[in-house]
Amino acid sequence: MINNSKNVQRYMFGMGAIENLKVVLNDLECSNKYVIYFIDSYFKNLDLINKLPINEMDEIFFVQTKDEPKTEFINNFRDALFKKNKQNPKAIVSIGGGCTLDTGKAVANLLTNDGDAEDYQGWDLVKNRAVYKIGVPTISGTGAEASRTCVMTNPKNGLKLGMNSDFTIYDQLILDPDLTKSVPREQYFFTGMDTYLHCIESLNGNYRNAIGDAYSHQAISLCREVFNRDDMMSDKNREKLMVASYLGGCAIANSYVGIIHPFSAGLSVVLDTHHCIGNCITMNAMEEFYPKEYIEFMQMAQKQNINIPKGIASNLDDAAYKKLYGATVIHEKPLSNALGDDYRNILTLEKVTEIFKRM
Ligand code: NAD
Ligand code: ZN
Repeated sequence: MINNSKNVQRYMFGMGAIENLKVVLNDLECSNKYVIYFIDSYFKNLDLINKLPINEMDEIFFVQTKDEPKTEFINNFRDALFKKNKQNPKAIVSIGGGCTLDTGKAVANLLTNDGDAEDYQGWDLVKNRAVYKIGVPTISGTGAEASRTCVMTNPKNGLKLGMNSDFTIYDQLILDPDLTKSVPREQYFFTGMDTYLHCIESLNGNYRNAIGDAYSHQAISLCREVFNRDDMMSDKNREKLMVASYLGGCAIANSYVGIIHPFSAGLSVVLDTHHCIGNCITMNAMEEFYPKEYIEFMQMAQKQNINIPKGIASNLDDAAYKKLYGATVIHEKPLSNALGDDYRNILTLEKVTEIFKRM
């Protein structure tokens, strides 16, 4: 059964939709007038900043993406806002990829809930409604704009987990495919494929339901249309991928991923590999689990002339493989979704090591 699922309340969609941000902010009723912006640092000196309706009282934070969000980054943003007495904004606006969208979500939760980011890594731990938040994705694929989580790593205990909560979901999205024009081709492929992989994992799992399946089928079909074309980044295809990403995010809110994401999370925790490229690297070794999808994935990579890195985990020492094993098999929900409750009998240390060596 689907347990009272929540979606994003409102979204705007279309080329140039970002121009509506001013109206959206003006229409918000709130005694506090200032807005907090989290913007991908890629845009720091670009024209987009001049087009935003930024006022003197507003605060802008540029979010770096070299490292994916850590709990400490979130706590630091919260502290900076308290120091400036800016902890009660009218809205948080996040403009960027998954790192930036997740940062905005996590900070919005922390401003209305005591404690630190790490206290809320898990399921339904957030107690109070978050600050009103608006998400503006500038790259498509993770579904972070639609999902009820915000992924963060706590380096102290190696836990990579988000604040899974209805309060984490964006209140408003502005989906403007014009903003994804400048994404580098490889990054466009890696992040776009996150949608495809979320959905094939979900459709191959045990915990399926009719709504999750419907979102997944449609998202996969859009990915096929985009990645089998000569120009995956045409205006039409950037529009389609933005829709696919949104639907993929809704799909995953109603189901679970499978084997690819836990292995990718292992790469991320132990080798600092970024999420989306990590998934694609993991696909190098997934033929035995997802044979049809492996072939289709490799064909799309070839069609787009994308080089998937190989061998990043082939020559490590025993201690590193043990760490990779631990950081992979910890993901009980997705692995039992894919392989059943006794998945640890299949994914032994030897087997997991062999899979990492094959990547
Ligand atoms: P990202 O935020 O990691 O950005 C990837 C790169 O693309 C960066 O260099 C960024 O500067 C650049 N970029 C973004 N937009 C651009 C543009 N318009 N033009 C040029 N460059 C641009 O992107 P991502 O792959 O979307 O996100 C990965 C993150 O999302 C990870 O931290 C992962 O854990 C998280 N994630 C979250 C969810 C969720 O449901 N919350 C789901 C999957 C992944
Ligand atoms: Zn993913």
